[in-house]
Amino acid sequence: MIGADGANSAVRKAMGVQYLSWNYDQMGVVATLHLSEATENTTAWQRFLPTGPIALLPLDATRSSLVWSTTHSHAKELLKLPEEQFVDALNDALWKQYPRRSLVDTCTSWVGGCLRRAGLADGAERQLPPCVRAVAPSSRAAFPLAFGHSTRYIAPGVALVGDAAHRVHPLAGQGVNLGFGDVKDLTDFLADAIYTGLDITHHTWLEKYESSRQRHNVPTQLAIDALYRLYSLDIAPLVLARSVGLQLTNALHPVKKMIMSHATS
Ligand SMILES: Cc1cc2nc3c(=O)[nH]c(=O)nc-3n(C[C@H](O)[C@H](O)[C@H](O)COP(=O)(O)OP(=O)(O)OC[C@H]3O[C@@H](n4cnc5c(N)ncnc54)[C@H](O)[C@@H]3O)c2cc1C
Repeated sequence: MIGADGANSAVRKAMGVQYLSWNYDQMGVVATLHLSEATENTTAWQRFLPTGPIALLPLDATRSSLVWSTTHSHAKELLKLPEEQFVDALNDALWKQYPRRSLVDTCTSWVGGCLRRAGLADGAERQLPPCVRAVAPSSRAAFPLAFGHSTRYIAPGVALVGDAAHRVHPLAGQGVNLGFGDVKDLTDFLADAIYTGLDITHHTWLEKYESSRQRHNVPTQLAIDALYRLYSLDIAPLVLARSVGLQLTNALHPVKKMIMSHATS
């Protein structure tokens, strides 16, 4: 049996395994958005606001998918707003200018100068996010956000995949990728079992699946949780650390490639 029944998995509960979880005290407001004009639209946008990140994920030339993580009360207000006001709130969230910290600006422009002299990207160029024209009818909804980790992904004859085994904050857009990785590894191990003529429910294959996925998923989940915490606080040293950290990650291609390769495996 494969438990692919989501974060509240009945299969996982029936397995009686330990499940570590905590709430982020945020809801994710989702919707399908129509953009003001057709563009190539191949870039995913994310902006970290004091209430949480807002992200636009490209669908096609004129449509993007919204994931707006915010407080419970704000999410409820956003769901109740008439369409036009919701679109105004959305554009405001994407474009509003917040007061900047001069210390952080001074440090990032100094780091940018050093990167430029070293022939690396200084992170100074700014691209502008798209403007939203309308929201697709009945596409607005909100979901609670939480962290979840099942300490075991397997039991005799049973394997968990996807959110049934692990749950992450959507700020890194990794939830589905982690599940796809589970499915790929599980099918690879089960195919190996079939080719060698062994019972596919034998614990050897299931344990291989569990350890390979937990080695990948648990560090990813912890990194996403750390990012959530890093962006939740508005303390000058943290703002500085994350701004310079992003600038360096963007400039150092091997680091960027390593993160991208981990995210897609
Ligand atoms: C607000 C929000 C935004 C997100 N944004 C992103 C993003 O941008 N990128 C990304 O990669 N991930 C994102 N995610 C995470 C992503 O949605 C999940 O990781 C993914 O949907 C998990 O897929 P799944 O198939 O494991 O579980 P689910 O999508 O939860 O599917 C489980 C299915 O099992 C069914 N089911 C449950 N119990 C039973 C039962 N007893 N009998 C029959 N069927 C049952 C459910 O109806 C459901 O259809 C987001 C999540 C949220 C909440």
